[in-house]
Amino acid sequence: MATKLITLRCGHQERVNVDGPYRIIERRIRQVEQAECPICQGNNDKRWADNNRLIPLRGVHDQCLRAETIRKNTLNRIKVLIDHSTIRDKDAFQELKKQALRIDSAAWWLEHRGDAIEVLARDIEL
Ligand SMILES: [Zn+2]
Repeated sequence: MATKLITLRCGHQERVNVDGPYRIIERRIRQVEQAECPICQGNNDKRWADNNRLIPLRGVHDQCLRAETIRKNTLNRIKVLIDHSTIRDKDAFQELKKQALRIDSAAWWLEHRGDAIEVLARDIEL
């Protein structure tokens, strides 16, 4: 496998597979150049959480960084739901947000990276 060391947006480097058609490789490299490495992404999300005064996550540092990204994405999805819901549904989505803001376990966020909103919604009683 041919690889090339590519510099990411954050300044760190990542080894990219450059086997395949030129167009596809070129697009892949451009995507990597515009991305940040998982550590910098996690640090940015941590800063975002601090700025938004979210409760700190509990867990091992590395776990917390990854969980922070999931929590951020989930809260952004809930915000879209709130912004685009009818008045009747807004309360439910606000409650969903309240529930999400209470969860401070990094392990929980990692476990529910794909279904956090569904799991939280199931526990809401209106
Ligand atoms: Zn980085």
